[in-house]
Amino acid sequence: MIDSHCHLDSAEFNEDRDAVIERAIAAGVTHMLAIGTGDGPPDLEAGLRLADKYSAFYATVGIHPHDAAKAGPDDFKRLADLLAHPKVLAVGEIGLDYHYDFSPREIQKSAFIQQMEIAAAAGKPIVIHTREAWDDTLALIEQHWASHGIGGIMHCFSGGPAEASRAVDLGFYLSFGGLVTFPKTLVVQEAAKSAPRDRILVETDAPYLAPVPKRGKRNEPALIVHTARKLAELRGESYEELCDVTSENFHRLLLLN
Ligand SMILES: [Zn+2]
Ligand SMILES: [Zn+2]
Repeated sequence: MIDSHCHLDSAEFNEDRDAVIERAIAAGVTHMLAIGTGDGPPDLEAGLRLADKYSAFYATVGIHPHDAAKAGPDDFKRLADLLAHPKVLAVGEIGLDYHYDFSPREIQKSAFIQQMEIAAAAGKPIVIHTREAWDDTLALIEQHWASHGIGGIMHCFSGGPAEASRAVDLGFYLSFGGLVTFPKTLVVQEAAKSAPRDRILVETDAPYLAPVPKRGKRNEPALIVHTARKLAELRGESYEELCDVTSENFHRLLLLN
Protein backbone atom coordinates (compact mmCIF):
# COMPACT_ATOMS: atom_id res chain seq x y z
CA MET A 1 0.00 0.00 0.00
CA ILE A 2 1.11 3.57 -0.65
CA ASP A 3 0.48 6.53 1.66
CA SER A 4 -0.16 9.20 -0.94
CA HIS A 5 0.11 12.15 1.47
CA CYS A 6 2.12 12.61 4.67
CA HIS A 7 4.19 15.24 6.44
CA LEU A 8 6.94 13.21 8.08
CA ASP A 9 9.20 16.28 8.08
CA SER A 10 6.98 17.60 10.90
CA ALA A 11 8.74 18.32 14.20
CA GLU A 12 6.26 15.91 15.80
CA PHE A 13 8.43 13.11 14.40
CA ASN A 14 11.80 14.48 15.49
CA GLU A 15 12.09 12.07 18.40
CA ASP A 16 11.22 8.83 16.61
CA ARG A 17 11.16 9.34 12.82
CA ASP A 18 13.12 6.16 12.02
CA ALA A 19 10.83 4.04 14.22
CA VAL A 20 7.75 5.58 12.56
CA ILE A 21 9.11 4.65 9.13
CA GLU A 22 9.91 1.12 10.28
CA ARG A 23 6.37 0.70 11.64
CA ALA A 24 4.95 1.90 8.31
CA ILE A 25 6.97 -0.65 6.37
CA ALA A 26 6.04 -3.41 8.84
CA ALA A 27 2.35 -2.49 8.32
CA GLY A 28 2.68 -3.02 4.55
CA VAL A 29 3.32 0.54 3.40
CA THR A 30 5.80 0.26 0.54
CA HIS A 31 6.03 3.96 -0.31
CA MET A 32 5.05 7.32 1.10
CA LEU A 33 4.65 10.64 -0.70
CA ALA A 34 6.37 13.27 1.43
CA ILE A 35 4.54 16.55 0.90
CA GLY A 36 7.10 19.31 0.57
CA THR A 37 5.28 22.36 1.86
CA GLY A 38 7.04 22.33 5.28
CA ASP A 39 7.05 25.71 7.00
CA GLY A 40 6.74 27.48 3.68
CA PRO A 41 9.16 29.46 1.53
CA PRO A 42 12.03 30.09 1.29
CA ASP A 43 12.46 26.43 2.31
CA LEU A 44 10.90 24.26 -0.39
CA GLU A 45 12.79 21.04 0.30
CA ALA A 46 11.00 19.60 3.32
CA GLY A 47 9.80 16.58 1.32
CA LEU A 48 12.95 16.19 -0.73
CA ARG A 49 15.14 15.87 2.36
CA LEU A 50 13.18 12.70 3.25
CA ALA A 51 13.21 11.38 -0.32
CA ASP A 52 16.97 11.88 -0.54
CA LYS A 53 17.53 10.02 2.72
CA TYR A 54 15.02 7.13 2.57
CA SER A 55 14.22 4.87 -0.38
CA ALA A 56 10.57 4.50 0.73
CA PHE A 57 9.81 8.18 0.02
CA TYR A 58 8.89 10.15 -3.05
CA ALA A 59 8.35 13.89 -2.68
CA THR A 60 6.35 16.86 -3.83
CA VAL A 61 7.32 20.51 -3.79
CA GLY A 62 4.80 23.26 -3.34
CA ILE A 63 3.61 26.34 -1.50
CA HIS A 64 0.61 25.66 0.75
CA PRO A 65 -2.24 28.19 0.56
CA HIS A 66 -1.48 29.03 4.22
CA ASP A 67 2.00 30.21 3.14
CA ALA A 68 1.01 31.97 -0.08
CA ALA A 69 1.76 35.41 1.37
CA LYS A 70 5.36 34.38 2.12
CA ALA A 71 6.16 33.51 -1.51
CA GLY A 72 8.05 35.78 -3.88
CA PRO A 73 9.26 35.44 -7.49
CA ASP A 74 12.49 33.69 -6.42
CA ASP A 75 10.50 30.98 -4.64
CA PHE A 76 8.41 30.19 -7.71
CA LYS A 77 11.56 30.00 -9.81
CA ARG A 78 13.25 27.68 -7.31
CA LEU A 79 10.13 25.52 -7.18
CA ALA A 80 10.20 25.12 -10.96
CA ASP A 81 13.89 24.12 -10.81
CA LEU A 82 13.24 21.47 -8.13
CA LEU A 83 10.76 19.68 -10.41
CA ALA A 84 13.74 18.29 -12.31
CA HIS A 85 14.68 16.12 -9.31
CA PRO A 86 13.88 12.46 -10.19
CA LYS A 87 12.01 11.82 -6.90
CA VAL A 88 9.75 14.87 -7.17
CA LEU A 89 6.50 13.48 -8.57
CA ALA A 90 4.08 16.39 -8.26
CA VAL A 91 3.48 20.00 -7.26
CA GLY A 92 1.65 20.32 -3.96
CA GLU A 93 -0.09 20.74 -1.80
CA ILE A 94 -1.54 23.83 -3.47
CA GLY A 95 -5.02 25.30 -3.52
CA LEU A 96 -7.29 27.45 -1.36
CA ASP A 97 -8.07 27.44 2.35
CA TYR A 98 -10.94 29.75 3.30
CA HIS A 99 -11.36 28.14 6.71
CA TYR A 100 -8.20 29.64 8.23
CA ASP A 101 -7.53 32.43 5.72
CA PHE A 102 -3.89 32.58 6.87
CA SER A 103 -3.06 34.31 3.58
CA PRO A 104 -5.42 36.81 1.90
CA ARG A 105 -7.68 35.05 -0.62
CA GLU A 106 -6.46 36.99 -3.65
CA ILE A 107 -2.86 36.04 -2.80
CA GLN A 108 -3.88 32.40 -2.30
CA LYS A 109 -5.47 32.42 -5.75
CA SER A 110 -2.43 33.97 -7.38
CA ALA A 111 -0.01 31.45 -5.78
CA PHE A 112 -2.33 28.62 -6.82
CA ILE A 113 -2.50 29.80 -10.44
CA GLN A 114 1.25 30.37 -10.69
CA GLN A 115 1.94 26.86 -9.38
CA MET A 116 -0.54 25.30 -11.83
CA GLU A 117 1.36 27.06 -14.62
CA ILE A 118 4.71 25.76 -13.33
CA ALA A 119 3.34 22.21 -13.01
CA ALA A 120 1.86 22.33 -16.50
CA ALA A 121 5.15 23.49 -17.99
CA ALA A 122 6.91 20.54 -16.30
CA GLY A 123 4.13 18.06 -17.13
CA LYS A 124 3.68 17.16 -13.43
CA PRO A 125 0.35 16.44 -11.66
CA ILE A 126 -0.84 18.69 -8.81
CA VAL A 127 -1.94 17.84 -5.26
CA ILE A 128 -4.89 19.98 -4.18
CA HIS A 129 -5.72 21.21 -0.68
CA THR A 130 -9.14 22.83 -0.56
CA ARG A 131 -11.08 23.81 2.51
CA GLU A 132 -14.41 25.67 2.43
CA ALA A 133 -13.44 26.73 -1.08
CA TRP A 134 -14.83 24.10 -3.47
CA ASP A 135 -16.37 26.49 -5.99
CA ASP A 136 -13.33 28.73 -6.39
CA THR A 137 -10.94 25.75 -6.40
CA LEU A 138 -12.81 23.91 -9.13
CA ALA A 139 -13.32 27.10 -11.14
CA LEU A 140 -9.57 27.90 -11.12
CA ILE A 141 -8.76 24.31 -12.08
CA GLU A 142 -11.21 24.54 -14.97
CA GLN A 143 -9.65 27.79 -16.17
CA HIS A 144 -5.96 27.13 -15.61
CA TRP A 145 -5.38 23.39 -15.49
CA ALA A 146 -7.95 21.07 -17.03
CA SER A 147 -6.93 21.73 -20.65
CA HIS A 148 -3.42 20.39 -19.99
CA GLY A 149 -4.81 16.87 -19.43
CA ILE A 150 -2.31 16.06 -16.67
CA GLY A 151 -4.64 15.47 -13.72
CA GLY A 152 -3.89 15.44 -10.04
CA ILE A 153 -5.05 14.49 -6.56
CA MET A 154 -7.79 15.89 -4.35
CA HIS A 155 -6.01 15.33 -1.05
CA CYS A 156 -7.98 14.45 2.08
CA PHE A 157 -11.14 14.39 0.02
CA SER A 158 -13.82 16.12 2.06
CA GLY A 159 -16.64 16.57 -0.44
CA GLY A 160 -19.64 14.48 -1.36
CA PRO A 161 -20.65 12.63 -4.54
CA ALA A 162 -21.27 15.89 -6.46
CA GLU A 163 -17.78 17.29 -5.79
CA ALA A 164 -16.31 13.85 -6.44
CA SER A 165 -17.83 13.59 -9.88
CA ARG A 166 -16.80 17.15 -10.80
CA ALA A 167 -13.23 16.39 -9.70
CA VAL A 168 -13.13 13.07 -11.57
CA ASP A 169 -14.43 14.80 -14.72
CA LEU A 170 -11.52 17.25 -14.43
CA GLY A 171 -9.06 14.33 -14.42
CA PHE A 172 -8.52 14.10 -10.66
CA TYR A 173 -7.98 11.18 -8.31
CA LEU A 174 -9.68 11.25 -4.90
CA SER A 175 -7.42 10.56 -1.96
CA PHE A 176 -9.31 9.38 1.12
CA GLY A 177 -7.86 9.95 4.59
CA GLY A 178 -8.86 9.57 8.24
CA LEU A 179 -11.97 11.69 7.67
CA VAL A 180 -13.71 8.74 5.98
CA THR A 181 -13.51 6.73 9.23
CA PHE A 182 -15.27 9.40 11.33
CA PRO A 183 -18.88 8.50 12.14
CA LYS A 184 -20.35 11.85 11.07
CA THR A 185 -18.75 12.10 7.62
CA LEU A 186 -21.61 10.35 5.84
CA VAL A 187 -21.29 12.57 2.78
CA VAL A 188 -17.61 11.69 2.33
CA GLN A 189 -18.47 8.03 2.86
CA GLU A 190 -21.08 8.27 0.09
CA ALA A 191 -18.41 9.67 -2.23
CA ALA A 192 -16.05 6.84 -1.23
CA LYS A 193 -18.69 4.23 -2.07
CA SER A 194 -19.38 5.53 -5.55
CA ALA A 195 -15.94 6.80 -6.63
CA PRO A 196 -14.59 5.08 -9.76
CA ARG A 197 -12.25 2.25 -8.95
CA ASP A 198 -9.47 3.65 -11.08
CA ARG A 199 -9.55 7.06 -9.32
CA ILE A 200 -9.15 6.29 -5.63
CA LEU A 201 -6.09 6.71 -3.41
CA VAL A 202 -5.51 6.40 0.32
CA GLU A 203 -3.49 8.69 2.61
CA THR A 204 -2.82 9.59 6.22
CA ASP A 205 -1.90 13.33 6.13
CA ALA A 206 0.22 12.37 9.16
CA PRO A 207 0.68 13.85 11.73
CA TYR A 208 -2.88 15.19 11.27
CA LEU A 209 -6.32 13.56 11.15
CA ALA A 210 -5.65 10.13 12.64
CA PRO A 211 -8.33 7.58 11.70
CA VAL A 212 -10.71 5.93 14.13
CA PRO A 213 -9.77 4.18 16.50
CA LYS A 214 -6.76 6.51 16.96
CA ARG A 215 -8.67 9.72 16.35
CA GLY A 216 -7.19 12.69 18.21
CA LYS A 217 -3.74 11.07 18.54
CA ARG A 218 -0.68 11.83 16.42
CA ASN A 219 -1.22 10.18 13.07
CA GLU A 220 1.49 8.13 11.33
CA PRO A 221 1.66 6.15 8.07
CA ALA A 222 1.25 2.74 9.78
CA LEU A 223 -2.27 3.82 10.77
CA ILE A 224 -3.29 3.91 7.12
CA VAL A 225 -4.49 0.31 7.57
CA HIS A 226 -7.55 1.59 9.49
CA THR A 227 -8.48 3.98 6.69
CA ALA A 228 -7.90 1.33 4.01
CA ARG A 229 -10.07 -1.19 5.88
CA LYS A 230 -12.90 1.31 6.21
CA LEU A 231 -12.65 2.24 2.55
CA ALA A 232 -12.69 -1.44 1.52
CA GLU A 233 -15.72 -2.09 3.74
CA LEU A 234 -17.63 0.90 2.32
CA ARG A 235 -16.91 -0.20 -1.23
CA GLY A 236 -17.59 -3.89 -0.66
CA GLU A 237 -14.06 -4.83 -1.70
CA SER A 238 -11.46 -6.91 0.08
CA TYR A 239 -8.65 -5.17 1.91
CA GLU A 240 -6.06 -6.73 -0.43
CA GLU A 241 -8.00 -5.59 -3.48
CA LEU A 242 -8.18 -2.05 -2.15
CA CYS A 243 -4.42 -1.97 -1.47
CA ASP A 244 -3.69 -3.25 -4.98
CA VAL A 245 -6.06 -0.85 -6.71
CA THR A 246 -4.85 2.25 -4.85
CA SER A 247 -1.20 1.34 -5.50
CA GLU A 248 -1.89 0.80 -9.21
CA ASN A 249 -3.67 4.16 -9.34
CA PHE A 250 -0.73 5.91 -7.66
CA HIS A 251 1.64 4.39 -10.22
CA ARG A 252 -0.51 5.35 -13.18
CA LEU A 253 -0.89 8.98 -12.12
CA LEU A 254 2.50 9.73 -10.61
CA LEU A 255 5.12 7.32 -11.86
CA LEU A 256 4.15 6.92 -15.50
CA ASN A 257 3.93 10.68 -16.00
ZN1 LIG B 1 -3.91 19.70 3.27
ZN1 LIG C 1 -1.09 17.81 3.91
